[in-house]
Amino acid sequence: MPEHFDVIVIGAGGAGLMCAFTAGQRGRRVLVLEHSERVGKKIAISGGGRCNFTNLGATASNYLSERPEFCKSALARFTPWDFIALVEKHGIAYHEKKLGQQFCDGSSRAIIDMLLAECAAAGVEVRCGARVQSVADDGLFRLQSVAGELSCDRLVIATGGLSFPKLGATDFGHRIARQFGLRVTPLRPALVPLTFSQGQTAMAGLSGVSLPVVAQCDSGHFAEAILFTHRGLSGPAILQISSYWREGDAIHFDLLPEPGQMNALLSARASGRTLLNILSEFWPKRFAETWCKQYAPEKPLVHYKQPEFDSVVKRLRAWTFVPAGTEGYAKAEVTLGGVDTAELSSKTMESRKVPGLFFIGEVVDVTGWLGGYNFQWAWASGHAAGEVV
Ligand SMILES: Cc1cc2nc3c(=O)[nH]c(=O)nc-3n(C[C@H](O)[C@H](O)[C@H](O)COP(=O)(O)OP(=O)(O)OC[C@H]3O[C@@H](n4cnc5c(N)ncnc54)[C@H](O)[C@@H]3O)c2cc1C
Repeated sequence: MPEHFDVIVIGAGGAGLMCAFTAGQRGRRVLVLEHSERVGKKIAISGGGRCNFTNLGATASNYLSERPEFCKSALARFTPWDFIALVEKHGIAYHEKKLGQQFCDGSSRAIIDMLLAECAAAGVEVRCGARVQSVADDGLFRLQSVAGELSCDRLVIATGGLSFPKLGATDFGHRIARQFGLRVTPLRPALVPLTFSQGQTAMAGLSGVSLPVVAQCDSGHFAEAILFTHRGLSGPAILQISSYWREGDAIHFDLLPEPGQMNALLSARASGRTLLNILSEFWPKRFAETWCKQYAPEKPLVHYKQPEFDSVVKRLRAWTFVPAGTEGYAKAEVTLGGVDTAELSSKTMESRKVPGLFFIGEVVDVTGWLGGYNFQWAWASGHAAGEVV
């Protein structure tokens, strides 16, 4: 006889653990199966080791999805403040870094310990090193795993996306969705550095240089910093815009995003100063030199003819960069796309076609911006399912 549970959750990341203890608190007998040797590996390395666990401003407008309204219900029923209440209950010190982003003062480990403590208190069993080989449905869900045969009434898939395979990411959730006839939207790496093309390798010399910009691509628009790397561009502005970028698209940068920079340039128009001299006040010297060498004739600004000056200003306000590609899943913080939300109830995350089968967290086609939004989706979707499974 297979070992039977009310609920089996596959995947012990943020979404799976949240769902498990929420269900356990309702008296359900819950088992979590994790194929890695440890739970919550992404939580451990997130936010530079301090876990940016939520964002106070999280609303549906901070998420990408084929159906952007899908995430509204779950986000409204488990808010950043609900997660913060949990963090405070466990005495974890935290702070806001910027733009509503909440980080642990100490190690991300505190968040993992908190989730495991809640699971233990709710009587949830967590088994690591437990790879699931197959899932079948004959009224009960029947799982073949390295830990033997298991069955359950409700099955929750919380196996995350494809990013960071070295931390245990797999396509298991997408495969299960397809096996049960659910559509999976196109998948691609997101929140990911972008690479130079052959013609842009001169910029590789700028590796380490960072400057504030407004980056725009498609409907994405972010005022943040870019960072040059040996292979391309990174930094928060690039990670954010990468979710909106598609092969062949240009990204436009306003290189004078600070109030006053444009006025300072216009005031210097009639002076004997060079563009390099002025821009070096706004930008790291190395970037100013490289940019001016490429785009600005080396002469005092007063000697610029008006059309010449206008064209330089235009380029400063909308510098165009066409990346060759992305750094791929190895460096992507998340996966864009996932189980089509049209297949799921936005209230419960249950499959419309397969009663009793739930998908939560990153495996679903809901992808947050950088800044704590992805964990907030993991908590909120995990909680929504945990309340009903
Ligand atoms: C480097 C990095 C930093 C990040 N920093 C932040 C941050 O600071 N803030 C933020 O909001 N987001 C951050 N993210 C994104 C965030 O980590 C994810 O969106 C979030 O962890 C998704 O939660 P999840 O539970 O859906 O999936 P995951 O956390 O990926 O958990 C899925 C679990 O399922 C397991 N699994 C996979 N396949 C199987 C299988 N076949 N059988 C059993 N188990 C399986 C995995 O081992 C994993 O433990 C970061 C991501 C990365 C890669």
